[in-house]
This record gives sequence, C-alpha cells and structure tokens, in this order.
Amino acid sequence: MYDVRQVREDFPILKRRVGDRPLVYLDNAATSQKPRQVLDALTEYYERHNANIHRGVHRLAEEATALYEEARRKVARFLGAPDTRSVVFTRGTTESINLVAYAWGRKNLREGDEVVLTESEHHSNLVPWQLAARAAGAKLRFIPVREDGALDMEAAEQLIGPRTRLVGCIHASNVLGTINPVERLAALAHAHGALMLVDGAQSAPHVPVDVKSLGCDFFAASGHKMLGPTGVGVLWARPELLEEMDPFLGGGEMIREVHLEYSTWNDIPYKFEAGTMNIAQAIGLGAAVDYLSGLGMENVREHERHLGEYAYRRLSELEGITIFGPEKDRTGVVAFHLPDVHPHDLSQLLDEEGIATRSGHHCCQPLMRRLGVAATARASFYLYNTEEEVDALVEAVQRAREFFGAFAR
Ligand code: PMP
Repeated sequence: MYDVRQVREDFPILKRRVGDRPLVYLDNAATSQKPRQVLDALTEYYERHNANIHRGVHRLAEEATALYEEARRKVARFLGAPDTRSVVFTRGTTESINLVAYAWGRKNLREGDEVVLTESEHHSNLVPWQLAARAAGAKLRFIPVREDGALDMEAAEQLIGPRTRLVGCIHASNVLGTINPVERLAALAHAHGALMLVDGAQSAPHVPVDVKSLGCDFFAASGHKMLGPTGVGVLWARPELLEEMDPFLGGGEMIREVHLEYSTWNDIPYKFEAGTMNIAQAIGLGAAVDYLSGLGMENVREHERHLGEYAYRRLSELEGITIFGPEKDRTGVVAFHLPDVHPHDLSQLLDEEGIATRSGHHCCQPLMRRLGVAATARASFYLYNTEEEVDALVEAVQRAREFFGAFAR
C-alpha cells in the first residue's frame, strides 16, 4: 500500500485553502485533481516539443508524434489491450460512446433490432443510443436496478436475446458505488451474437481494468477523471470492429486518398482521429497512467474500498439518512439523501467549510426516478483522500442539519 501523505504532496491543489479552510476535495467522480507529474508533462511538451503530429518531417513534429504515440502505447498497456491500434483518442467517454453509436450503429442497427442498456446509465451511454435507435427504427430495452443497487441479472437473462445487437453498461456507477458484472453481461451478449460496450468512465480511474478479461468489444474512458487533463479520452475497441466501422468525423488525417467525389480511409486508429488532435492532453494522459501504474491499481482500489465503506459507516450514524448502493465492497462514490436538507443547500453549506461535493441528478435522471428522489448529495473519493476528510464531511453534514433544523423549529 502507498503512503497517502506522500501521494498528497504530488498534488499542488490539495494545499490550497477555500476561504480560511483547507480544501477537502470530494468531487472526484466529476473530475479528479492532477499530480505534478502530469502538469510537468504538459509544460515540458509546450516548452520543448510543441508541433503538429504525423504530418511534419521537422524535429519538433517527430518528437511530438513520438510522444503522442508513446501515450497511446501507455494507455493500451494500462487497459490490458494487446494491440496499440485498438486505442482511439477522443475527447472523453461521451465522444467515445457517440463514436460507437454513430459509426457502428449506423451500419449495423436495423428496424426491429434491440440495444439493451441499464436503468443506471449515465446520460452519455443513453442519449447516443436513443439517437442511434431512432435513426434505425431499433428499440432500447433496460435491465432494472434492484433495491440494493445491483443489476437484476435474472431480468438481464430474459432481456438479452436474439434481437439484441449490443449491450451497453456502466462498469462502475457514478451514483450507486457499485461495480457491475460486465463480464457476465458480455458473455450473455456474445451468446446471442451481440456486442458489449462498457462505459468505463468511473472504473478506469479506480479499479484494475483488463479489456481482455472483461470480454467486452468496446470500452470508453475519460482522461480527466483519472488524473489526466480535460479534453482527452479513449475508445478501446476490438481492432476488427474498428476496421469494419465507417469513420465518425471526416477531415484531415483520417484519410488515405481524397478525390473530389470520394475518399478512402487511413488505417486504424487514425481513421477515427480527424483533424488536429488533443496532442498535449494525450501526452498528459500518458503521464497520468504512468502515475496510476506506479501506485498500483490494486492499491488504489483497496484504498477507495476502505474509504467508501468507512464513509458509508460514518454517514449511517446520521438519523434518517438514505445512502444509495451497497454497504460493503463498494467504490468511493457515496450518494446520500437526508429528509430534512435539500442536497443543493447541503453542498452549499459544505462548500463554506471548504468541502467540495456535488448535488443533483449526476446525469442519471432515469436512475433518480428509479430511486424516488429528484437529486442526491454525493461525495466521491480518490486515491489521495483520507479518513480525516471523511470525518470532516460527516461532521459538516451534521452541522448543516442542525442549522436547517433550527430553521424548521
Ligand atoms: N459515464 C459515467 C459513468 C460518468 O460518470 C461520466 C462523467 N460524469 C461520463 C460517462 C461522461 O464522461 P465525460 O463527461 O468525461 O465525457
């Protein structure tokens, strides 16, 4: 296990104060903070190597291209992908899923086909499929979420069938603190000749990921949630699928030959990387996965499992609280609801104590309806958070309740 105190030294922002309070950053499911190693990689790139990639023959262009392609190799290794060509850089999970829904969906979805998702999808793994299904005349079906936050796998077995063309599922929930059995879903999908897409936005930063053992066909993740810069993410896909798919965006770099009336496509993954890419951000993401691998993803997982369970236990002390998702074996995402304090008011009061949390529907409006709430408060932990920060949260929530209780009386 790593030394959290030492890890915190790598994150300059964790030293800042909010008003007269030290920052307690518990909004990691929205975006993570960045270590000095990532910030240095960005500065070094812009100070020494900045150039456009793949096109130039001058020294800087070659250096920038080498750094960008090295970042792709690092990400491939991090995800357990044997073939570097299977990693496409995108803007993030949202773009990765839209790429699949458009480039795969347009070609493969037909009237009467079905795409099976879950009730707990983030909007970014729901809306692109609504668009794709509408365009094709296909249907969406949904695996229900049980009371304890787990997927109803018996229902999944009924729902996934001969009409299913694709199953899409969040690997780790950004609300429930659950890790879904995507391996089992992939096996069910494949048994019926369908493909499996995993939304890894909340898993790649927090648990060891190996796309081979997940058995999926597509895996999407965002750099900014895993210590990297904003504006970069990845789509991993089985190379044969990328080969078969038509492009998503057209323009420079993604072509082999362009004629006035038609074009032919570059090799994968370049076929899906149109125009000038987010070069610095991809290099920053390479530095981020180096940092994560240095700590060891098993260690990161254990640290967060501990914090998630500790937060669950401590928050349970508050009378009348509802905490969503399982008590044990959870991730570091802890969403909760108090009967007497509106989540937005709570987050605002916590902010006055320097504690950053999030309140709202967390881009999961259908899941909120399923849980019977309009919004929840959410604390989400990462590899640099501590038990003391959980304590600070619980004590501040308690004070917020007393504050609102005084008004109610
Ligand atoms: N899926 C899940 C589960 C998420 O938590 C998020 C980010 N909140 C996304 C997808 C979308 O990620 P991005 O906004 O980086 O594209």
